[in-house]
Amino acid sequence: MTRLRQASAWRKKNESTTNDETRKVKFRHSAFVIVSSFVIRTSSFLFPAIFPTALQAEENVSVLGSKPKWSVLEKYQETITHDEFNRLIHDVYCTHGFASNLIEVSAKTAHVLIDRDSQKFFTLRFAVNNAGRKPVPHLWRPAKSLSPARADKPLVGLKVVLDPGHLGGKWAKMEERWFQVDKSRPVQEGDLTFRVARLLAPRLREFGAKVSLIRSGGEPVTAKRPDDFRELARKILIKNGVPLPREDVLDPNDPAKEQTIRWQSEILFYRYSEIRRRAALVNLKLHPDLVLCLHFNAEGWGEPTHPTLTDTNHFHLLVNGSYLAEELEFDDQRFEMIRRLLSRAYDEELPLADTIALTMARETGLPAYEYPTTNSTTKVGMSGYVYARNLLATRLYRCPVIYCEPYVMNSNDAFVRIQAGDYEGTRLINGVERKSIFREYADSVAEGLVDYYSKARARGD
Ligand SMILES: [Zn+2]
Repeated sequence: MTRLRQASAWRKKNESTTNDETRKVKFRHSAFVIVSSFVIRTSSFLFPAIFPTALQAEENVSVLGSKPKWSVLEKYQETITHDEFNRLIHDVYCTHGFASNLIEVSAKTAHVLIDRDSQKFFTLRFAVNNAGRKPVPHLWRPAKSLSPARADKPLVGLKVVLDPGHLGGKWAKMEERWFQVDKSRPVQEGDLTFRVARLLAPRLREFGAKVSLIRSGGEPVTAKRPDDFRELARKILIKNGVPLPREDVLDPNDPAKEQTIRWQSEILFYRYSEIRRRAALVNLKLHPDLVLCLHFNAEGWGEPTHPTLTDTNHFHLLVNGSYLAEELEFDDQRFEMIRRLLSRAYDEELPLADTIALTMARETGLPAYEYPTTNSTTKVGMSGYVYARNLLATRLYRCPVIYCEPYVMNSNDAFVRIQAGDYEGTRLINGVERKSIFREYADSVAEGLVDYYSKARARGD
């Protein structure tokens, strides 16, 4: 890692600002922390020597990323018209705008900056019209190109990877995806998502899908551990204005814990390294037609040992898009955005997400989550539940990805249901006869897939 890349690491860690992707502690009021893109801009005034340097770095890539191979985009020449490219870039991927020195769209071509120093650009040639458009190459298969299916096996042949979010188990506290009310069973998101995945896999197989889980339990996919990232963590902190970073966190409520080597090395392990290893599995080995990222949402719960429960409960789904101007400055993210746009994953993701949203809304009865700001997300589709957002997993998995965020784990309702565990049939919970929260989740996702593929693929009775 060069010094210049570590400054990027700092920015990257803080790219996510709301609910699930954010660790619960924020220190907006401290002198140097960057929580959101909005604050990143502010921070560059605080550290004029750091960020402009990072932006002009030779290796201007995000945390643990690598320099993109732009030549792989050659296969997308003349596979998209100008109008289609414009629609996707303005309405989905770059809804917050983009700098004209990074991407320039003209009638016949789009120029995308490869390298700031050498001012090299990748030139994409548009198809003249739809009739002259070359087929879009991809390894995953859109519903339309799957072989015809019998009515009772609408998912036959479909390769689905389930990605139960986080790790859970002994890592749950480190991930800050852990809370406990008095002496009740601790709530660990990584365990909940794994439970849903284990219920969902056989349901999808019943309908003919080939399903694999990206992790087999509470163990990380990455072989790295926090200690492997201590030096990188130290360099990131120094680069970002902490000249003598503290080694350790004092206690869970340490207000400056994000400025410690421990905290930084842990997040490099359980988020960046772990998700990048999962992406390598998806892209190089599993080659699915679809990845479902399974999460539970949360509202800020304060102290994990004395968590705040809330009456707020909701759900939403995410697809990739809505890149921030700052994110597009990174060579790898700009490349990944363009590759994703050209792969047309969105054309499959959006109608699928909208369909799953409707079955989940019906099954769970939950209202749509409304982000408090539009800083990092853009509502897309017709259902009202689907947002575009640039998360690491939705960006890196090279196929359609639906990222599910139902239930607020620390809502009064979900908490009781999580404590009730999994069970068959229904039980009276909070005065209502209901399925277990895990089955309701799994069933509603499965139902959405069945609905979508039944309509979108040809019938082969
Ligand atoms: Zn999550």
